[in-house]
Amino acid sequence: MAIQPIETRYKGHRFRSRLEARWAVFMDHLGVPWQYEPQGYVVDGQPYLPDFLVWPDTDCAFWLEIKGTFPGKDELTKARGLAQGTGITAYVYWAKPEPPAPDLSHLTDSEYCGFDEDGYVWTDDAGWREYPTLPPAWQRDLWPTAFRFDPGERAAKRKDKSGFWWWTDCPHCGRALIKSQGQVGWCPAYDHLDWDARMEKFGSPYPSFAHRSPRLLAAYQAATSARFEHGESGA
Ligand SMILES: [Zn+2]
Repeated sequence: MAIQPIETRYKGHRFRSRLEARWAVFMDHLGVPWQYEPQGYVVDGQPYLPDFLVWPDTDCAFWLEIKGTFPGKDELTKARGLAQGTGITAYVYWAKPEPPAPDLSHLTDSEYCGFDEDGYVWTDDAGWREYPTLPPAWQRDLWPTAFRFDPGERAAKRKDKSGFWWWTDCPHCGRALIKSQGQVGWCPAYDHLDWDARMEKFGSPYPSFAHRSPRLLAAYQAATSARFEHGESGA
């Protein structure tokens, strides 16, 4: 039996799934510009139409492929080829449009880096599993949200690895961007400054969680509560 999601209309677009439409609502709430299916490509002989191009024509443009479930190997291979072929970072994102983690702003520096004896190991489909290696304790209840693929030769050789890629509210430029573990890190708007200049201007960028700002939480709320008219398929 073949089963497929019903199209969802929002803002004049016909999204292939309600989940995609919810992420569009989310980005609109944050003032994040996006294009839906702006361009199809042939990647290694296979046609590929990526879902969103986010922050198009800016220094932080990225592809955002939305999946309802953990992506398969072929989907990851296409996204890798997309990033390599277009020179634009690509995410394959399967988390729900909900805050990806609790408030972690209470963590101290040493808890943030924290190592201990127990040992856990990463598995891509399920997150941390017990075994000897050393993620900090605060990460162990978290689940990976996405695969990220960067352009460039070095990234091309990197093994597929999922991670904690969260929407993050940059306090420096006001843009909502996807960043590792919701860390503000360095704002791309200040990439032209060297390390010392950035340290002087902003102080150390870690740890600095920004995945639960009021406007991000409001955007998640808007995305999950959005009501859409019924899609239809040609009738
Ligand atoms: Zn910024």
